[in-house]
Amino acid sequence: MPREFDIIKEYFQPLSTIKSNAQIPLNQGDDCAVVFESQPLVFSIDTQIAEVHFLEDMPADQIAHRGLAAALSDLAAMGVKPSFFTLALTLTGDESPQWLSNYASGLEKLAQQFSCPLVGGDTTQGKTISQTFQVHGYSENGSWVTRSGAKQNHGIYVTGPLGWGAAGLKAFLENGSDDLKQGYGYPMPKIDTGFAIKNKVSAMIDISDGLLADLMHICKASHLDAEIELSRLPLLDSVIKNWGYDSAVSMALSGGDDYQLCFTAEVSDITPELMQAHQIHRIGRMRSKNSQNPRINCLQADGSLFNPGNHGYQHF
Ligand code: ADP
Ligand code: MG
Repeated sequence: MPREFDIIKEYFQPLSTIKSNAQIPLNQGDDCAVVFESQPLVFSIDTQIAEVHFLEDMPADQIAHRGLAAALSDLAAMGVKPSFFTLALTLTGDESPQWLSNYASGLEKLAQQFSCPLVGGDTTQGKTISQTFQVHGYSENGSWVTRSGAKQNHGIYVTGPLGWGAAGLKAFLENGSDDLKQGYGYPMPKIDTGFAIKNKVSAMIDISDGLLADLMHICKASHLDAEIELSRLPLLDSVIKNWGYDSAVSMALSGGDDYQLCFTAEVSDITPELMQAHQIHRIGRMRSKNSQNPRINCLQADGSLFNPGNHGYQHF
C-alpha cells in the first residue's frame, strides 16, 4: 500500500479541484483550508465504520459513495445544496492501489454530481476502516428546514422507494441481484428535491434509520401524532417479489439506509406536478397535539391498526 502523503496526493488531491459555489482561496495541502462566507453555513458530520455502516468486502467505490451520500443526505433534509466537504479516513494498511483508486473514484463521481470539492481531511491507520465526512452548504436567503415545524393536518410525504436500503443489504448478505444491491451500495441523496421543496414544507428529515424512527423525530420535535396508511408506501416490486409484501412493508418502516426524504406540508402546497417530478408520495397526515408521548398510527388497507414492533435502527 502507498504511503500516507502519496495516497493524499494521488487519490484525494484531484478531488479538491471540483467546482463549487463556495469561494475557496486556500484548498487541500496546507494546515487548514480557507473558505469565504457571505451566507449562513449549514454543516453536518457523519462517521461510518466497517461492519457497522458498510460491509468491508463490498466494492470500494460503494463504500465511499455510501459514506458521502449519507452525509450529503443531511444537507438535503435541510433544503441546502452542498458546497464543500472534508474527510477523515482511517485505513488498515491492507488496501491495494486498486482499492484506493476505486474508493477515490466512488467519491469523485458523487462529489462531481453535486459540485462539492474535497477541501481537506486526515488520513490515519487503524484496525478497521472508518470514514468521517463533514459536509457544508450555504442556506439561500438565510432559510433552512427543521424537524419542528409540522402542524396538525399537514400531509406526510416521502420520496421513494422505501425499503431498498434494507433490501440491498439483505441482497449483499444473501448473494441477491445487483439491482437490489444498488439500494445499499448507491443510495442517492435527495439534494435537488430538498432544495426544490424547501419553501413549501413545514418539517423535513432524511430517512436513515427507517421511516418510523425518523418520522418520530418530526412528531417529537413538532409535538404531534402522525397517521400513515401502509397501502400508500412506495415499495419496490422486486423487493415484494423476493421477500413478500409483509417483509417489504417492514423494510420500508423499520429498515435503515434509504436516504429518502420524509416531510410535512400543507396538502395544497404539494402539487401533482411537484410530486411527479420528484417521486413524492403522500402517505398520511399529522394528527392531534400530543406533547408527552407522540404516536404514529399505521393503518392497514381495511382500516385496522398495524403494530410494527421494531422502530428502526439505534446505535445504543
Ligand atoms: P496536519 O498534520 O497539518 O494536520 P496532514 O498531514 O494531516 O496535515 O494533511 C496534509 C494535507 O493533506 C492537509 O491539507 C489535509 O487537509 C490534507 N489531507 C489529509 N488527508 C486527507 C484526506 N483524506 N482527504 C483530503 N485531504 C486530506
Ligand atoms: Mg498541521
